[in-house]
Amino acid sequence: MVSFFKTKYESILNRIFPSGFYPTRPFNLNEVHMDDLIKKAAEDLAAAGKVTALTGAGISTESGIPPFRGKGGLWERFDPMEIAHIDAFMKDPAKVWNILVKEMKAIVDTATPNDGHKGLAKLEAMGKLKTVITQNIDGLHQAAGNTDVIEFHGTFAWQRCMDCSRKYETREVDISKIPPLCICGGILRPDAVFFGEMIPQDALWRSRQIASDCDLMLVVGTSAVVQPAALMPVIAKESGAKVVEINPERTPLTDEISDYLIMGEAGDVMNRIVAELEKISPPAALETPRTQS
Ligand code: NAD
Ligand code: ZN
Repeated sequence: MVSFFKTKYESILNRIFPSGFYPTRPFNLNEVHMDDLIKKAAEDLAAAGKVTALTGAGISTESGIPPFRGKGGLWERFDPMEIAHIDAFMKDPAKVWNILVKEMKAIVDTATPNDGHKGLAKLEAMGKLKTVITQNIDGLHQAAGNTDVIEFHGTFAWQRCMDCSRKYETREVDISKIPPLCICGGILRPDAVFFGEMIPQDALWRSRQIASDCDLMLVVGTSAVVQPAALMPVIAKESGAKVVEINPERTPLTDEISDYLIMGEAGDVMNRIVAELEKISPPAALETPRTQS
C-alpha cells in the first residue's frame, strides 16, 4: 500500500517537474533520500575526530563471498550448528572440511577486495579512519590497504594444527587428502572462531576500548545478531558516538542504536561517501603538508 502511494507520488512529481529540473530524474524518492544520507554521512565523517568501522560478511558479498544469513547465504544450504560449531568439527573434522572449509578455501584463496573495502582503505588514507573491527575472516580489509584491522573472529588466511599449534598459510595447504594434516600428524583447522568458541581476548578487549572511544562508528554489512560483535555499536552509542549503518536490509540496530541507515550495497555507498567527503575535504588538503611561502 505504502509502495503504491510512493510510486504514484513519484510519477506525479515526474510530471510536474520538467526534465532537467531535478538531477536525479526520473524522480525516485529512495534516491533523493539516499543522496541526503550520503551527504550527511560525509559531513558527519568530516566532523568526527575518531572514526572506526565494524564490518560483517555483507561487505564481502560483492567480492563473491557468500554471507551466512540473507539472500544467497550459506545458511540456506547448511544448518550452522551442524557445520560451523566447534562440537561438529571435533566430532567429524572431515565432514566440516568437506562441506564448509573446502568451499570457503576455494572462494577466499582467490577473492579480491571490492569498492566497499577500498572505500574504507581510502578513509584511512585520508586520515579519517583508524581501526576496522571485522567479523570477517577473509583478510580483504588488509588486502585493500587498511593497516589496523581487528579480526574479531580470527582469520581464515591461516590453518592451525590442533595438536602442536603450528600454523600454515591456507593458500599453501594441500587438500588432496581431507582433513589435511600437520607434519606432526595433527589435524588442521581454520585459525578462525567456530560457533561455541571464545572470541580471542585481545581482539575483544581492544574492540571494546575502540568502540567506547570513537566519535563515529560505520557499521557495514552485518546482520548484527552475532554476539558479542553486535555489542560494539551499542558500546559506541552509549559512549556518545554516532552510529551510521550501511546495509540493504534493516537490522536489530536500525531502530534502537543507529543514527541512520543508508540502505544500499557497501561498494556503491562507500564510493559515494568518499566522493562527497573529498568535496568537503579535498585529498590534497588532507595529505600534502602545507609549506610556508
Ligand atoms: P551475516 O551473514 O549474518 O549478515 C550479512 C549482512 O550483510 C546482512 O545484514 C545483509 O543484509 C548484509 N549485506 C548483504 N549484502 C550486502 C552488501 N552488498 N553491502 C552491505 N551489506 C550487505 O553476517 P555477519 O553479521 O558478519 O555475521 C556472520 C558471521 O559469519 C560473522 O561472524 C563472520 O565471522 C562469518 N562470515 C564471514 C564471512 C567472510 O569472512 N567474508 C562470510 C560468511 C560468514
Ligand atoms: Zn602439528
